[in-house]
Amino acid sequence: MIDRILRVLICLVLLGAAQAHAQQYPSKVITIVVPFAAGGPTDTVARILGKAMSSSLKAQIIVENVLGAGGTVAAARVATSAPDGYTLFLHHIGFSTAPSLYRKLPYDTIRDFEPIGLIGDVPMTLIARKDFPAKDLRELITYVKAHKEKINFANAGLGAASHLCGMLFMTAIQTELTTIPYNGTGPAMNDLLGGRVDFMCDQTTNTTSQIKAGKVKVYGVTTKTRVASLPNVPTLQEAGLPGFEVAVWQGLYAPKGTPKAVVDKLAKGLQEALADPSLKQRFAELGTEPSPKKNATPEALRAHLKAEIAKWAPIIKKAGVYAD
Ligand code: ASP
Repeated sequence: MIDRILRVLICLVLLGAAQAHAQQYPSKVITIVVPFAAGGPTDTVARILGKAMSSSLKAQIIVENVLGAGGTVAAARVATSAPDGYTLFLHHIGFSTAPSLYRKLPYDTIRDFEPIGLIGDVPMTLIARKDFPAKDLRELITYVKAHKEKINFANAGLGAASHLCGMLFMTAIQTELTTIPYNGTGPAMNDLLGGRVDFMCDQTTNTTSQIKAGKVKVYGVTTKTRVASLPNVPTLQEAGLPGFEVAVWQGLYAPKGTPKAVVDKLAKGLQEALADPSLKQRFAELGTEPSPKKNATPEALRAHLKAEIAKWAPIIKKAGVYAD
């Protein structure tokens, strides 16, 4: 009997502490962990979002880049962080492809995280170094097939969106190329601009300004329709690859066990940030569509993540790409 009373009392104390924590939250700096290098598209989105969320949550938000293994090193780090709402994780479509690409992951994608909400969708572009000898997609495909041993295709590691897009491209043109993995497409872009790699697929977040400045060649966008910020760039479907489609979605997560009241505060802060006019303008310039309020919720992200894991599993299995 005394034992039971003691247990009830402990539960009440813990509940009270959790409620007090949620009420005071946030009272210190929040870190958003980004699984790719600074200067790349995921990092850029995190910094724009972090700024807007720091206004909506009235807290300081910083970004930490945790690199390696296509984003899985960062995911493992967040999975074991304190579930107190002060460590968040911003990842993209790669979070849903990793369970199929990696034979063994050091975390469980569904069990170890609390989804907060969807952030947005962003198209990718197929781009090459400025002096790449092909003026359009058809010429690119012919050239690549004829010189495949000499051509390098950059990506941000197995599990990155650039890897997924590249894998789909190589499958579509039935040509295997040498891929060069980086810790993010920020550094890969530097090498592309310097002519040290030939081409890559990357989010418009990172490529729009380089395309507009004529510093890289562009062969198409990966979405079904053209992108408003790049109206003269054809879709890859129009340019000659029927059915080719991939858009990058991004989500915000906390470690499993983060109190529901904290997750709800974060979701509200996310929704407010996505409605912020300066965020919307920056996102539009970079070709990113912010998620509508109904999708910037834990339920919507949870459902989307599960659906994407199920969608990509058979495609990746068919492509036969794995890491140990
Ligand atoms: N765009 C990269 C990717 O391929 C990631 C990044 O550097 O943000 O997923």
